[in-house]
Amino acid sequence: MLPTDPISKHFRLMAPHVSALKKLGILTIRDLLYHFPSRYEHAGASGSVARLVPGTKVSLVGILSKLQAKKLWKSRRTATEGVFEDSSGKVKVMWFNQPYIAKMAPQGIPVKLTGTVGGSAERPYITNPEVIAIAAGEVIAEGLFQKPDTLNLEPDTSIFPIYPESRGITSLWFYHALKRVFESGAHKKIDDPIPPEIRDRYHLPTLETSFVMVHTPEDEKHAQAARKRFSFEEIFAIQVARAKERAENAALPAFEITNASENAEKFLATIDFPPTRAQHRAIVDILADFANRHPMARLLEGDVGSGKTLVAAAAAYAVVNSRPPNRQSGTLQVAYMAPTEILAGQHFQSFIEYFKDLPINIGLITRSGCKKFPSKIASKNNRGKATDISRTQLLKWVANGEIAMLVGTHALIQKKVQFQHLALAIVDEQHRFGTRQRRELARKGDFPPHFLSMTATPIPRTLALTIYGDLDLSILDELPPGRAKITTEIIMPKMRAEAYEKVREELVKGRQAYVICPRINEPDPEKMNALQAKSAKAEAARLQKDVFPDYEVGLLHGGVKPAEKDRIMADFAAKKIDILVATSVVEVGINVPNATVMMIEGAERFGLAQLHQLRGRVQRSSNPPFCFLLPESKGDLAMKRLKALEKSADGFQLAESDLETRGAGDLYGSRQWGMSDLGMEALQNAKLIKAAREGALALVENDPRLAAHPALALRLQSSRGALHNE
Ligand code: ADP
Ligand code: MG
Repeated sequence: MLPTDPISKHFRLMAPHVSALKKLGILTIRDLLYHFPSRYEHAGASGSVARLVPGTKVSLVGILSKLQAKKLWKSRRTATEGVFEDSSGKVKVMWFNQPYIAKMAPQGIPVKLTGTVGGSAERPYITNPEVIAIAAGEVIAEGLFQKPDTLNLEPDTSIFPIYPESRGITSLWFYHALKRVFESGAHKKIDDPIPPEIRDRYHLPTLETSFVMVHTPEDEKHAQAARKRFSFEEIFAIQVARAKERAENAALPAFEITNASENAEKFLATIDFPPTRAQHRAIVDILADFANRHPMARLLEGDVGSGKTLVAAAAAYAVVNSRPPNRQSGTLQVAYMAPTEILAGQHFQSFIEYFKDLPINIGLITRSGCKKFPSKIASKNNRGKATDISRTQLLKWVANGEIAMLVGTHALIQKKVQFQHLALAIVDEQHRFGTRQRRELARKGDFPPHFLSMTATPIPRTLALTIYGDLDLSILDELPPGRAKITTEIIMPKMRAEAYEKVREELVKGRQAYVICPRINEPDPEKMNALQAKSAKAEAARLQKDVFPDYEVGLLHGGVKPAEKDRIMADFAAKKIDILVATSVVEVGINVPNATVMMIEGAERFGLAQLHQLRGRVQRSSNPPFCFLLPESKGDLAMKRLKALEKSADGFQLAESDLETRGAGDLYGSRQWGMSDLGMEALQNAKLIKAAREGALALVENDPRLAAHPALALRLQSSRGALHNE
């Protein structure tokens, strides 16, 4: 058996297995080894029937049978007796004064049994144990647990791995499959991607040992050591990939931006308000990057409304007023990329406004042949105004350097768009704008452009250091003065009517509202109990019919086609829609200043950082905004989290506290960042992140091509543990 062998070569797979494995992305033996348990069931310290010690407490995993209620004549008590069995033997079990046990206790399926050992070493029994069916639906089936005589639990296995659920395949299947892999020694044939000196420094077990410990741990300590190692491995691999990108970037030549500070000052002098201290710091960071010999690669992180656009405009102004380095003629150019047509249009307007006193030609490029969003230009001869222009003409002026700043969507990276000297690329709200796209942009000019990414997604520092390890960080941790403060309130069910009244008050004033729902459609009736969350579709219909019949209710969700989405957003912006019912799609950068109130249904289902971003949508003007959180359940933790939102207005602080209370995987969904659950788990360990980062930077500095680390290079290519930036 080889790690690269497909699983089907060594295991007889039935159809449900095949599809389940495929769904889990497990094709090879190596994949199987890298598929880790999500948790472990504990059976306790002594763990097996053969080794019971009277007078001690014990926890066992096995099967219970022959339960029978009895009356004890001597003491006139009731008792229930039964037999418990694991692969090492059988033991008698008794409960006193719990006559219902015989009816209630799960028989014939694997259970965890915890109780005190009585009797003697020769004839032990267990009294009044607690019984829990373990991982119902996960471990059952496969025939193995159906008859006690085929029961096959390791006698000395005191904790039992439970694998991530997938229909068609059970934890037990993995358990046995991996046992065979270990017997074959295939796990010893994968080279350890973590170099020995780093393993030694952080006391990490070897790959070979870790595979065994993570899948068949003898105890909790082993399992934890192995998990820690694998989370280190994943973070380390990501950090190495990022460090490599950083090193590659540092080796590139860059446009020299001359007189950058002077020009930035000149721009700031034309603005009506002074920059905040945070904006000033960010601009200084960027100017320092411009003075470097290699392209800037920087992330500007700032809460909604913190004024990232001003920073971008200052950087842009410095660039367009710099001359191409003693070579050709023309101007250096700036590309500004937004995630949607609407945002591109809004930013185009903002830049026209910021540059109304300065001579710059700004272009807006949108979908080709689209009447509704024609390409536009604001020329330096006609400042502060935009006029329509043909796309062909626009592209011509971009190519000959006539247009200094081009705003647009992903359309910007199309082949047809050619710049004369693209010197700065700015990307807004696109946290997954990857290295590959950055390279595509880089090919658009004669030199790789400086790169500034901007995001309002508040993420914890450990996550930022990992996924953005190739970027330098500037943070806007301060809002411009004079913002109306948002009122956030948790609304319990009986207060719902009052909340609607408040919404109505705003509507009467001519303002608009958002209602956010956690789901698009009605829940699947089969899962009715699990998912009671309100659906956007049903809620929109209900609000229109029963609550706000006199107002226009609109509906927007992820299932709506892009053109339709644009139309709905345009209608909302034009106030043809008063109340927009939506899923969390409105999270990204939508700017309708007239919307001042938001209701969030099923609020506890969202991460704090996400809720914070959502409510930012109603903080776009000086009108006092409101955000109502309507939880479905009132668990302590859920309420504690939502209360944090009532109190704090700092997105980064909320992201950190989300990380503490919910864990990162739960918070954002690991898929979004291309990390495994295990990797996300590690984000709670700031020390580990720091160690992985330092290790990665040092390694790449000495061996930028990973020539001496082939196993690590291979790990970076692996599809599992996700190192892909897109
Ligand atoms: P972000 O993109 O970070 O969410 P914007 O750049 O859209 O924020 O800025 C939000 C609003 O704040 C804009 O109307 C902008 O004109 C204003 N603004 C930006 N910086 C300042 C400042 N230093 N003082 C006052 N208002 C500012
Ligand atoms: Mg913005």
